[in-house]
Amino acid sequence: MTTLGAAVAEAKSRFSAAGLPDAAIEARLLIGGLLNLSATEVFTGGDRPLTHAESSRIADSIERRLKREPVHRILGKREFHGVDLLISKETLEPRPDTEILVDSMLPYVRQIVAAKGAARLLDLGTGTGAIILALLKEIPEARGIGTDISEDALKTAAENAARLGLTERFATVGSDWFDQVTGRFDIIVSNPPYIRSDVIPALEPEVRDFDPPAALDGGSDGLAAYRAIAADAGDFLEKDGVIGVEIGFDQKETVTAIFRSAGFTLAQADRDYGDNDRVLVF
Ligand code: GLN
Repeated sequence: MTTLGAAVAEAKSRFSAAGLPDAAIEARLLIGGLLNLSATEVFTGGDRPLTHAESSRIADSIERRLKREPVHRILGKREFHGVDLLISKETLEPRPDTEILVDSMLPYVRQIVAAKGAARLLDLGTGTGAIILALLKEIPEARGIGTDISEDALKTAAENAARLGLTERFATVGSDWFDQVTGRFDIIVSNPPYIRSDVIPALEPEVRDFDPPAALDGGSDGLAAYRAIAADAGDFLEKDGVIGVEIGFDQKETVTAIFRSAGFTLAQADRDYGDNDRVLVF
């Protein structure tokens, strides 16, 4: 691998021989990401020579992908709802479908800002900070807190906030759901773990072996986190406050029932890019 073009061709043929889908796209994404090149630069820069260090880093990254580590985790970063985020060991890789939750919540945040001039947000199990940081980036009058049980995640979320210039409006709190949270919020958001424990071994290796188990495992029926959140949310939400959660494709009825018994009313349900139920707003 002495040129960019040779490296992309080799990555593509090895990914494709290993049966990975989207081999060509992933080869360009991985190598472009490693070299900090745009998609156009990768397409047109085939003759670009590679240094020895670049070439060995690419070779190492190809091996990691062949062991099914996702491209963005290898790169340590990904784009989400227009913001660049670092990913670390104990953070779930932000998914495009979670952008729907951001879009669902934006009008509610705007409405609160229109009425009160400001809005206070809380993101439970913030991970990289993806959801709340994307909301804060869009709405300058909003501020908020991201909680997580993982110190590594809190560090990553804080670093992401700093890189996005959001430090003044964002703080992290180490907390098991609401345990260490104080005060009241206009908006609560969460993408909690919602996969049934018994399903986890059957997940694709990219998720099962590389996303943190604590961000996936929702207990024996997948609903443990929603029960914990719904039980206490009323104590932390302003009157007329809104709570938005991501859910599994088959959890609309069960999660709605959990929040309804805690006194909440379903305000909105949204589907993801694959037309599955994915977001509930109460
Ligand atoms: N959307 C993730 C997946 O299917 C699950 C994330 C979660 O449990 N919140 O891999």
